[in-house]
Amino acid sequence: MEHFKFSKSSEDNLKGVHPDLCIIMRKALALSPVDFGISEGLRNKKRQLELVAKGRSLTNNSRHITGHAVDIFALPNNAISWEFKYYQAIANIVFELSKTLSIEIEWGGKWDDLNDGTHFELSRKDYP
Ligand SMILES: [Zn+2]
Repeated sequence: MEHFKFSKSSEDNLKGVHPDLCIIMRKALALSPVDFGISEGLRNKKRQLELVAKGRSLTNNSRHITGHAVDIFALPNNAISWEFKYYQAIANIVFELSKTLSIEIEWGGKWDDLNDGTHFELSRKDYP
C-alpha cells in the first residue's frame, strides 16, 4: 500500500527546520494512521510578534523562530480537521519515535496554557 507523502507545500514548510525534527515528522507520517501536513516551520520574528499580539502565541521567544518547532494539520479523508483525537493519534506515534530515536520532543497538546495540538518542538533541554 502506498503510504502518505508530504505535499510540496509541506516540504517547503520543513525548510530551515532542524534535521532531527524533520526526521521525526517524516517517520511519523510513514507510520501515522491519519494523513497530515506541515502548516508552518521556521517563522520570522515579525510574524511571531503579530501572533502574540493576536493572542495566538504566548511568547516572543517561540521555538519556530530558531527552526525547532513545526505545526501540523490533520488530513483525515483528504480534508483538514481540527478534531483533537487526530492530533492525539499523531502525537502517540511521535512519542514512540521520540523514544526509539532518543530525540526528545514536546507537544503543545500537553500544555495547560494555550493548549495547541498542532505544535511539536524539540526539547529546550536537549536542543537549546
Ligand atoms: Zn507552533
